Amino acid sequence: MKKGFLLLAVVVAIAAYSSSRESPRATAKAPIAEETPAEAIVPVAAREAALSFSPANPLQGEPVMVSVEGLSGTTTVSSITFNGKKSGVFAFNGRASALIGLDLRMAPGSYPITAALSDGKTISKSLTVGKRTTVEAPLGIPESLGGNTPESEKELLSTLAQEGAIINQIASVGTRLWSGSFRLPVDPPVFITDTYGYSRLTGASTIAHKGTDYRAAVGTPIYAINSGRVAYKGFLRNYGNVVAIDHGLGLLSIYMHLSEVLVNGGDSAEKGQLIAKSGDTGYVLGPHLHLTIRINQVSIDPERFFALLGD
Ligand SMILES: [Zn+2]
Repeated sequence: MKKGFLLLAVVVAIAAYSSSRESPRATAKAPIAEETPAEAIVPVAAREAALSFSPANPLQGEPVMVSVEGLSGTTTVSSITFNGKKSGVFAFNGRASALIGLDLRMAPGSYPITAALSDGKTISKSLTVGKRTTVEAPLGIPESLGGNTPESEKELLSTLAQEGAIINQIASVGTRLWSGSFRLPVDPPVFITDTYGYSRLTGASTIAHKGTDYRAAVGTPIYAINSGRVAYKGFLRNYGNVVAIDHGLGLLSIYMHLSEVLVNGGDSAEKGQLIAKSGDTGYVLGPHLHLTIRINQVSIDPERFFALLGD
């Protein structure tokens, strides 16, 4: 009560102070501007084209938005290449851009990123990838999957490899299906039970957790984080009921351990569409939603992704 009154008093004081001035603007987070088609990018004359990275100093396991600044005349960007892989180029905040994913296990250091321009020139800049702090925690095998025995550990590793191969084959179309910002897959209040990147010590093995776990009782509504197309729906021993949304240009969001999937392969999905109910299927010790976000087959940290492109 006291706190509320104090807050009110402060708000009134600020309102009184600013009433004689320009109305205060929200500065919390700059909204993502409506994307313009590549050909509508206004050229900036007499400026050298250069690459910029957001975040400027990423760590292993993070997504990075690469943008080309200062394009002149009618020059466009034909491709953006990182680690020998070409990324899909799209217009973002008025600049030719590409999303790249840094693998959790890539060596920290400098990596060149190159953009090929339509006028035949190429521009290049080194991206410095920092080391992520390694966190380790033990995680047992549930009784339903054989319990903590060497046999079930062996079974877990071989089936995880098979399931990884299935996930790797989920296709992404060559056009961008997403727009604007991304929402979380669950409604607030959001509680993260396991973060991306920590190593789970299971028996003698180390399994990296390459997604974010959200607390969700069985039956909790799960929403598409942006628009796209349902690119996979199936049941896997460890991942349980799975649905994957292809957002185009190599970007996938994959939802795991579901009790129910409410869409079918090939369906289009809108941002915020109810696509599934959370559950406890597969390799889990309790109900939750596991969200994987992949950029060109690299699973990156969903929390960092939402920090970069979230609502
Ligand atoms: Zn998980």
